[in-house]
Order: sequence, then structure tokens, then C-alpha cells
Amino acid sequence: MTTTLSTHFPAIDNTHLKSFAKLDIPARLLLGPGPSNADPAVLAAMDRQPIGHLDKAYLQLMDEVQELMRYAWQTDNRLTLPVSGTGSAAMEATLANTIEPGDKVLVCVNGYFGHRLMDMAGRYGAEVVSIHRPWGEVFNTSEIRAALETHRPAIMAIVHAETSTGVCQPMDGIGDLCREYECLLVLDTVTSLGGVPLFLDKWGVDLAYSCSQKGLSCPPGSSPFTMNERALTKLSNRRGKVANWYLDMSLLNNYWGQGRTYHHTAPVNMTYAIREALRLLSEEGLEARWQRHQEAAEHLYAGLEEMGLTCHVPREYRLHTLTTVRIPEGVDGKAVTAKLIDDHNMELGGGLGDLAGRVWRVGLMGYNARKENVDKFLSALKQVLTELK
Ligand SMILES: *Cc1c(COP(=O)(O)O)cnc(C)c1O
Repeated sequence: MTTTLSTHFPAIDNTHLKSFAKLDIPARLLLGPGPSNADPAVLAAMDRQPIGHLDKAYLQLMDEVQELMRYAWQTDNRLTLPVSGTGSAAMEATLANTIEPGDKVLVCVNGYFGHRLMDMAGRYGAEVVSIHRPWGEVFNTSEIRAALETHRPAIMAIVHAETSTGVCQPMDGIGDLCREYECLLVLDTVTSLGGVPLFLDKWGVDLAYSCSQKGLSCPPGSSPFTMNERALTKLSNRRGKVANWYLDMSLLNNYWGQGRTYHHTAPVNMTYAIREALRLLSEEGLEARWQRHQEAAEHLYAGLEEMGLTCHVPREYRLHTLTTVRIPEGVDGKAVTAKLIDDHNMELGGGLGDLAGRVWRVGLMGYNARKENVDKFLSALKQVLTELK
């Protein structure tokens, strides 16, 4: 016997409900600032049924993800885990778990993401101070020392790979300075993890975060986070609770650590994905991975030079995962990116902030960091520039 729906509901009028086609996604080559294309093996790994986030098979996956993540970052930090969310969620986790209201936070700003760090730190009640460099330049240790001496911050945050400018910040000596001045060092490695050399422990980094969709060849949504014992000491000595429940590492630690107590439902299929992405990284090996990115980037620099185009960043500070190219005089940068996507299915980034309208941003990250993609891009760019003349 069938029962009917309650007649207490209002009747639903479906006459104007249109029929939606099945999902149809264009096949793009993503050569912008991210996301980059996912490795097909990562997509295949996601294509399974979810299991329970307290299932023993899942708990084993969690341990493996943590171990692989420590390898990728070259750290022994016990508290290393993926945050459920994109890189900005992991960024927020580093600040939420370290800042107590009134703490002084020094941010080194030489691009868009330094500004984001300042904004977030302020929202957690920090007294935010900053030092600045023009977009496309790096900081040196003497100006960092001077700022630490002047401000005596509790935390200093700096971006390793500035995706808005294509600069890779040299890290030698910065961790030592932060220890000398007794402040925690937060490092943004969103566009460096899985693409360029990173040695968290050797560099004396106390907290770091990244994302899945740039150098790790994975879709966005699961973001590496790590903190060392120094950072954990500050966390356990806080007077008040972490102001963000979802990102509170004292709670998340009980799920990812020994306790395995429920906190929030893990995005199970994203864990499959990031495990596969990190497994592929370990199979390739860090040095081979870094080498592949360097070779793809150098191939790009050579090709651009041959076309008479100029990179915005001096060679020694260039970031292999992302190159900023100056838009030549008289060329409409936006018309070029539009034509690349319409005619060639190729995504290229535009400039942000101080570099808006002045550069294109070419990402060669993870799965995409290959010479054949550089060749495809250069030939498409040549064609588009000729057609737009
Ligand atoms: C992309 C990016 C972020 C933010 O990550 P989302 O995944 O977009 O939230 C933070 N910092 C840097 C340097 C980035 O490139």
C-alpha cells in the first residue's frame, strides 16, 4: 500500500522547472595561478565510495597522509594534517591557533598574500605591523632583523612563494632570526609545496600551510597544515580558547592524534585524493619533482626571451611554479587571456594588485610542469599575439 504525501504542504508547481543538461566541463589546460590540472590518477582515487571517518581503514589513510605530508615538507612535526578547506583555511588555521588578542604580528608584504595575512591577523585581535617591498622583490635578513628589533613581535609571517608576483623568498637565516627574537615563524608555502625546494625543519619554520590544487596536482579542498612543538607550547599556554572552532588544533589534534574523537566529518574523498597526490610525489621523489619544475620553468624563460618578452622578476628570485611576464606595450592583456581560453582552452592568469594590467601569470605546477605544456603555451601565445595585431 502506498501512502501519499501530506496534503498539508503547498502544491509545488513544476511547470516552469527547466531541465538541466548533465554536467559538461570544458577540457582546459590550467596554466594560471591555480588551480592546476589534477593528475588523472588523483581523480581516479577520488572516484570511490566514501567510508566512515572513524572506520579503521580511514584511520590508516589518515596516518599515511600525515607521514607523506611530513616528507613533502621535510619536517618531523607530529601535528601535520590536512585542513578541510582550501589554502586560505589552512592560512587562517596558522593564525587562529597562534594569535592571542593583543599579540603583535609582523607581516612581510611584497604581494597580494601578505595583505591577506595582515587582514586575517587583524581579525584575530592581533596588533598588526608590517614591512613592505615592491611587488616582484624579496626581503633580506637585515631588514627583517631591523623590523624584529623595532617591533618585538610574537609572530612573524612571510610568504615563501608569492603567487601574485612570481617571487621565491630566500629563507636562509630567517628562522634563526625569529628564534633570536623569540617569535614564531609562519610560512606560506601554498605555491611552493611540491614544486620548489622546501625544508621546514632546517629553515626553523614553526608553522606552515599549503593547498592541494597548485603543486600537488589535486583538486582544491584539502590543505596541508603543520606546527612544531614551539608553536604547540604557545597554543597550550593560551589564556582563552582559539576563536575559530572549526580550525582549533587543540580539538583537531584529538581527531588526528591519539584520541580519534569526532570533530567534524572529514571530506573523505578529498583525503583519498591528497593521499594519492602525495603518494605520487613520494614515488617521483622530491628532488626529481623540483628538477622537473625547474626544467619546465627554464624552458619557458628561454621561449619567452626568444619571443622578445620579459619576465618581471630577476632570474635569481624567480619562482619555478609561477612566472610573471610583462605585457608588451600596446597589447591588451585581457584580450590575450580571453582568446587563449576561447580558442585554445588554455587558462592564463592576469596581474593582481600593483601588477594589475602589467603582467600575465603563467603557472607550471605539479602535473602541468612539463616542457610539452610550455611548447603548447608558447605556440598558442604566438598565434594569439599575431591575430590580435
Ligand atoms: C592560492 C594562495 C593562497 C590561498 O589559497 P586558496 O586555496 O586559494 O584558498 C594563499 N597564499 C598563496 C601564496 C597562494 O598562492
